[in-house]
Amino acid sequence: MVKVTKFGGSSLASAEQFRKVADIIFADPARKFVVPSAPGKRFPEDVKVTDMLYACYKAAISGRDFKSKFKEIRDRYDGIISELGLDMSLENEYEAIEAGFKGRAGRDYAASRGEFLNGIILAKYIGYEFIDAADVVFFNEDGTFNLEMTNASLRDRLVNVEKAVIPGFYGSTPNDTIKTFSRGGSDITGSIVAAAVKADLYENWTDVSGFMIADPRIIENPAAINTITYKELRELSYMGATVLHEDAIFPVRREGIPINIKNTNAPDDPGTMIVESTSKKPEHIITGIAGKKGFSAVNIEKDMMNSEIGFGRKVLEQFEKQGLSFEHMPSGIDTMTIIVHQDEFVEKEQEVLAGIHRNVSPDSVEIEAGLALIAVVGRGMKSVKGTALKIFEALYNSNVNVKMIDQGSSELNIIIGVLEEEFETAFRAIYNAFVK
Ligand code: ASP
Repeated sequence: MVKVTKFGGSSLASAEQFRKVADIIFADPARKFVVPSAPGKRFPEDVKVTDMLYACYKAAISGRDFKSKFKEIRDRYDGIISELGLDMSLENEYEAIEAGFKGRAGRDYAASRGEFLNGIILAKYIGYEFIDAADVVFFNEDGTFNLEMTNASLRDRLVNVEKAVIPGFYGSTPNDTIKTFSRGGSDITGSIVAAAVKADLYENWTDVSGFMIADPRIIENPAAINTITYKELRELSYMGATVLHEDAIFPVRREGIPINIKNTNAPDDPGTMIVESTSKKPEHIITGIAGKKGFSAVNIEKDMMNSEIGFGRKVLEQFEKQGLSFEHMPSGIDTMTIIVHQDEFVEKEQEVLAGIHRNVSPDSVEIEAGLALIAVVGRGMKSVKGTALKIFEALYNSNVNVKMIDQGSSELNIIIGVLEEEFETAFRAIYNAFVK
């Protein structure tokens, strides 16, 4: 049994957290490959080391004195080392990093040092081999990730390694510069390592006990989801539920490796299992609810629209021309509505409107801003009667007006559009209808 175990920034933010992490690793001999993030926040107002590194590098390249900022970063690491009582020094590494900053080694290089240094400390603390991600994770010249080369290199390097720490978030390019994934990218490294070694499980340790059924900022103490499929997760993540980096799913998914989201501060909680498919029934008919504000609807009306061949294509072309993707497209016989992200759309709205007028001569085009979308997601909804009834009854009883409804053919989700000011009320009504 092999598990790849990734720890997020808050799991490694202090010596106390390092101790919890070591306990977790030693509790299971299958935890052979460990992927750490950089130290995160120790308390809500704290600053993540990655953010400190970005700020420090900015000071360095604008010719300002960056030494005091760098000292704060060193203090974070030295504090952890001394509190853990480790017999080690990172002086050589600090010197090299300072030189890198002076020599403008790049913003990505700067950010990556957070994971690099944390990886060295963790490897020493738990007695695992340290493998620099720059030697095993590769990007192409154009900055895209090189899966084949990374896979081959990780396999080669890890085949005879008993136990190792591989820092997350970064790798190297063909000209030996350091490149990072986007923010939160240590999740991706963990997934890539898990796929390369064909792990039995990819564990992702964070500071919550898995995915919650609903956003805890709206619903007090929502229950955690025990098991969720990749598809359900994608629907929920797209609508704003964040625990895992979106790109972390693909590498393990292709290999059929499940992901277990676990809580470093409550290791006995089962967390959430993310799987390809499952016969486990969800506890409630729905698996989760997620939602976002900030959408606009473009309502187009034209008599006899339904018989005009190519009408929809000509309309959508106007969005495409402006580089806009659309979210949903509910339609009636003589009406069609395109739902878009308001902030992207607002810059281009007049061009789109003019284009629609020129191309399809509508009777009217009207923009309605300030919409919110709520996705009710669940594999348990398939072929179950009455789910929609339950949703709309709850909304009716809460006096919420439904502006849009969209149920995909997969029956995996129902999307409801409401006014932004009714978003929270609608969200709670739906949650209570299914979960209470
Ligand atoms: N340290 C990086 C960040 O703050 C990457 C990560 O934590 O996954 O985004």
